[in-house]
Amino acid sequence: MDFKKLYIDGRWVEGVSGKFIGVENPATETVFAEVPAGTAMDVDRAAKAAKAAFTAWAHTPLSERIEKMRTMATIFKTMETALTTAIVQELGAPVGFSRTAQVQYQFERIQSYIELAATVRWVEKLPHATVYREPVGVVGCITPWNYPLGQIVQKVIPAILAGNTVVLKPSQHTPLTAFYLAEAFHRAQFPKGVFNLVTGRGGDIGDVMAEHEDLQMISFTGSTPAGVSVARLALQSMKRISMELGGKSPCILLPGCDYEKAISMCFNSIFLNSGQTCTALSRLLIPVQDKEKIEALLKKTVSSYTVGDPTREDVQLGTVSSARQFKTIRAYIEKGLRGGADLLAGEIPQKTSVGYYVQPTIFTNVTNDMTIAQEEIFGPVLCVITYRTEAEAVRIANDTRFGLSGAVWGATKEEAVRIARQIRTGNVYINDGPRDVTAPFGGFKESGLGREGGVDGILEFTEPQALFDDGTIG
Ligand code: NAD
Repeated sequence: MDFKKLYIDGRWVEGVSGKFIGVENPATETVFAEVPAGTAMDVDRAAKAAKAAFTAWAHTPLSERIEKMRTMATIFKTMETALTTAIVQELGAPVGFSRTAQVQYQFERIQSYIELAATVRWVEKLPHATVYREPVGVVGCITPWNYPLGQIVQKVIPAILAGNTVVLKPSQHTPLTAFYLAEAFHRAQFPKGVFNLVTGRGGDIGDVMAEHEDLQMISFTGSTPAGVSVARLALQSMKRISMELGGKSPCILLPGCDYEKAISMCFNSIFLNSGQTCTALSRLLIPVQDKEKIEALLKKTVSSYTVGDPTREDVQLGTVSSARQFKTIRAYIEKGLRGGADLLAGEIPQKTSVGYYVQPTIFTNVTNDMTIAQEEIFGPVLCVITYRTEAEAVRIANDTRFGLSGAVWGATKEEAVRIARQIRTGNVYINDGPRDVTAPFGGFKESGLGREGGVDGILEFTEPQALFDDGTIG
C-alpha cells in the first residue's frame, strides 16, 4: 500500500504540499510510514469532488447503494491481516485485541449498517404529509487515533449508505487503516468522488473542513475542546454537526453483586487499549462496607494483566499511543498522589527502555472532586470511590460534566436497571449483558451531540423533508 498519496475523485493523487507526516510506532519509537501533510487546497479538491458526486449518488437507488457497500465490505475483509498489523504498529495496541476489537468488530459494524439500511423508514406517511429522509450532502468526517478504524466506520459507512458523499480526515497519528478503506472503495468501483481521503493535522485542515462552503455536515470524534472548536467554526455556516467526545464513565457495584465478574468487566474496559477508550469505565464506585474485600480482589485480578510488546499474542496492554500521551498520563498519576489518593496498583510511569509502557494503575481513597476523578486521563488508570447509600452512588456517578457510558452491577438485573435509569449517560451496561452493535451510541452533556450506531446512526446523516400532500402521494 502506498501511503504517500491522497484519494480524491476516484484516484490516488499527490498532495499539493509535497510534504509528509511521519507515523511513529510507539513500541519501537521509529517512524515506519509517511502520509501526505494535506493542505487547504487538498481539502478543496476533495470537497469539490464530493460535491460533484453528490446528486447522482443521492439519487442512486438504495438497493444499489447497499449492493455496492456489500461488495466493498467483502473486499475490505480480505485486508484483515494488513489492517491488524497497521493498528499494532501505529497505535501500539496488542495484536490479539487489535485483531478482534479494532478490526473484526468493525467488520461486524459495517455488516450491521448494511443490513439496517434496508430497514430504515426512508419514507413515512403522516395524515396529511409524506416525510422523506434526504441525505445531508457532503459530510466531513474527522476522527481520532484511539480506535482508528472504528471511528471511521461509524461515520463513513452510514453516511454513504444514506446517500451522502464524504471527505474523511483521519488522525495524523493513526492514519493507515483509512488508506485500506479507500482502496476497498476503489476496488469496489464506487462512483468517483463518493469517498475521498485527505490526511493532515487537525490545526492545518480540520478547521478548513469545518469552514468549507461545500461541506454541509461535520461529523467529529475526538476530545471535547477540539470538538467545541470545530463546532464553533461549523456553526458559522449552520452546518449539521455530530460530536462524539470524551467521557469519565462510572461503574457502580451494588452490594451483593458478583464482585469478581464485575471487576473483570471493569478492567476489560479501563485497561484494554491501555485505557485509551472514550467509554472506559474509569471510576469504580463501591459500597464502603465492602471496601477491604473489593480492594483485595482488585489487587489479585490486576496481577493477571501482562504489559509488553504489542506484537506478542499473550499481552493485554501494549504501549500508550505516543510520548505525549505517556507524559499526560504520568502527570495525572503524580497529580493523583499529590491530591491524596493512594496507589493500590501501578506506579509513576518511568521511561526505562524503548516504548511508551504504562502499567495498569489503580487509585483508592479517591473522592469525586479530585482532578483524577473529574478529568479524562485516557490511560490505564482506575479511580476507586466509596459510597454509603444508593442515592450517593447515583449522585457521584452523575457528578461529572461527561455522560458517555457507564455500568451497574446488581445482585439482580432488576436492581441494576433501577439504578441505571438514574444515570445520565448514553449507554449503561447491566451486569454482564453483551454489547449490541445495533444500539445507538453517543453521549449526554459534554460527551457529545447526536448518535452513531444502528438506525439512529444512519438517520444522523439525513434531513427530513416533509411534503404536505394531503397524504395521497408516495
Ligand atoms: P483530538 O481532539 O486531539 O483529535 C481528533 C481529531 O480532530 C483528529 O483528526 C485531529 O487531527 C483533529 N483535530 C484536533 N484539533 C483540531 C482542531 N482544532 N480543529 C480541527 N480538527 C482538529 O482527539 P484525539 O486525541 O485524537 O482522541 C482522543 C479523544 O477522542 C478523547 O477525548 C476520547 O474520549 C475521544 N473519543 C471519543 C469517542 C466517542 O465516540 N465519544 C470515541 C473515540 C475517542
